Amino acid sequence: MQNIKPGLTTLSDALAIAFSDVAIMAKTEERLISDCFGAVLREDVVAGVAVPSVDNSAMDGYALRHSDLGSLDRSVPVVGVSLAGHPYAGTLPKGAAVRIATGAAIPEGADCVVIQENVTVNSDETVIVIKQDVLDRTAVYQNIRWAGEDIKTGDVVLRAGTVLRPQDIAVVAGQGRGTLKVAKPLRVAVFSTGDELSKPGDPLPPGGIYDSNRFAMIGMLRDIGCSVTDLGLLADDFDVLQNALASAAKDHDVLMTSGGVSVGKADVLKPVVEQLGEITAWKLAIKPGKPLMRGKIGDCLVIGLPGNPVSVLVSGLLYVAPLLRHAMGANHAQLEPTRMPVRAGFDFTRMTGRREWLRARLVQNDDGAFEAIAFASTSSGMLSSMVWADGLIELPENCGQVKRGDEVLYLPLRGLQ
Ligand code: AMP
Ligand code: MG
Repeated sequence: MQNIKPGLTTLSDALAIAFSDVAIMAKTEERLISDCFGAVLREDVVAGVAVPSVDNSAMDGYALRHSDLGSLDRSVPVVGVSLAGHPYAGTLPKGAAVRIATGAAIPEGADCVVIQENVTVNSDETVIVIKQDVLDRTAVYQNIRWAGEDIKTGDVVLRAGTVLRPQDIAVVAGQGRGTLKVAKPLRVAVFSTGDELSKPGDPLPPGGIYDSNRFAMIGMLRDIGCSVTDLGLLADDFDVLQNALASAAKDHDVLMTSGGVSVGKADVLKPVVEQLGEITAWKLAIKPGKPLMRGKIGDCLVIGLPGNPVSVLVSGLLYVAPLLRHAMGANHAQLEPTRMPVRAGFDFTRMTGRREWLRARLVQNDDGAFEAIAFASTSSGMLSSMVWADGLIELPENCGQVKRGDEVLYLPLRGLQ
């Protein structure tokens, strides 16, 4: 039993519903591979090139015929050289060796490589002497890397839906591909709402606070490859919001806002979205971030985040980022955050019914084992807690108490981008 409060949806359900409600919105484009880091791949990449393309040497040394080794009189003539990019032309004669560099093609007829540290070479490099014990222990195919041992032609090296990392792009480059079909960045318009807010750089009136959330939202959206329009700060005013949302919805795929989605008098975002379109989801069983809203105006997806800065970051990383990556065509399996079981280095008691994330740090205890410590306050207004944290501890909906030494789930913040 998860004991969820009526009217609230769990994060897993909310994401599953959002994935089925929200289509893949991003168009595709062919992009230079050097501009594809972090993008969502929209094609399967099938290997047309074997890697390596030929049998080649794993070491610097001498290529030999293994069948010769028993009969060699230890002094072996060196008949040529095979360098990376400059193969030895022709077949290795019986009883001879070819000097070979790492990555160079194995000459026709050779089937083992003795490393250069295990031979002595005469002064003009025409003859090598191999010690008997080296001859005895050299196996057939020793130090040979086979053509296709890394990638065979026809292998699917990357699946559509992959969020591209440096190693993914590197493998594509190894296939000789200069471009990839990827999701076009979603066009996301961002603004903060709140009469109390001032723009950083402007003077702060008494009782005012600076708008932090817009920058958290812009950063998270850029991290996941969206194209962001910064619409600034808007007052808690029905007409102001209505005009801004109606016009931004025309030329953006997504509108993302902070503040004004709760039930206070100044919380006018919900009625505005209801007026212009519809609200498709509201309120998650999560802490922080409960009043999160999802809606749409025409074809434009609207995401209203709560105003508290920690809520913006936590719900942005755990709900919005997966949803928008889904809307760019990402594999859902890849959108699950990394959850590591670690020991709790703290005691904590709470009300059940919502999934909660504590701001956490991994530290090594006296035994050298890692344990997670939690920030002293759970207030969702304390932005400094997110700067202090390197991760989040996730408490399941039905967990009411954590004791020092219990196993808890730690989500590294780096894994949430
Ligand atoms: P709201 O959801 O609009 O009721 O805001 C909740 C709390 O978050 C209030 O204390 C706001 O002052 C604060 N807040 C709202 N928007 C921002 C923002 N853009 N930057 C920093 N704090 C904010
Ligand atoms: Mg407000």
